[in-house]
Amino acid sequence: MMSAREVREARFPGALPEQTVLDRLSEVTAPLGFDPPNTIACVGVCRDEIAQHLPALVRQVWGEAFNFCSLGGMLFLGRTGFRSAHHHAPVVGGRERYLHLAFSHVAIGEDGTLGHCCRLGRPGASAACGALEAFRQAHARGDAGLFLDPDDVEMSLLSRRLSARMKPGARPDLADLAHLAREIIAEDLDRMLHDTADPAQADWVAVTGIQIHAPEGEEWIWVPPGVASINGRAQAVHLA
Ligand SMILES: [Zn+2]
Repeated sequence: MMSAREVREARFPGALPEQTVLDRLSEVTAPLGFDPPNTIACVGVCRDEIAQHLPALVRQVWGEAFNFCSLGGMLFLGRTGFRSAHHHAPVVGGRERYLHLAFSHVAIGEDGTLGHCCRLGRPGASAACGALEAFRQAHARGDAGLFLDPDDVEMSLLSRRLSARMKPGARPDLADLAHLAREIIAEDLDRMLHDTADPAQADWVAVTGIQIHAPEGEEWIWVPPGVASINGRAQAVHLA
């Protein structure tokens, strides 16, 4: 049996404490002209309350942030949501600046079990990400549908997006699904920014990653190497 730390290091190599990533983000964006008074932060994480620690830290540094949250951390707010956020940005020196942060998430239990977390006042282990776990179970039953249920819009869309990426016979665990969700989030973020942000008027930095909720309330972030996209161009801005 692996410890929580060993699971984190094996499945999310190079993950850093969330505060370290945020400090690094401030350091790398400052020379690009971003500072809190001239920038709107747009933060997408899962709706899960245990995912909200990161947006709270972002708000402490960058001020009130536009809420991009959907189940699983997916960016389902659409072009209208992106345009609204961009239209709320300060205009400084004739330019708008957006800081886009978007994360999937996963918990690791005390005993290294992926997905296990304890919630205050609730007995037993709980799952995070619950939406990814619901997909995992439905997919294992052969029951992850493509049907868009108007009474379960976000889960249907999440299921549809993940299903399209499943290889035949795949039995992903929650770490695999957190990585896959992060890839989908990054693709959606790129596409939405291409459609709604104008490099003639605005500068933006876009970072995607995975929040990892570890035992003892430790919060970690994994970001892919080479990390950020600046005004739609991938750049080797190393947060980790
Ligand atoms: Zn979740």
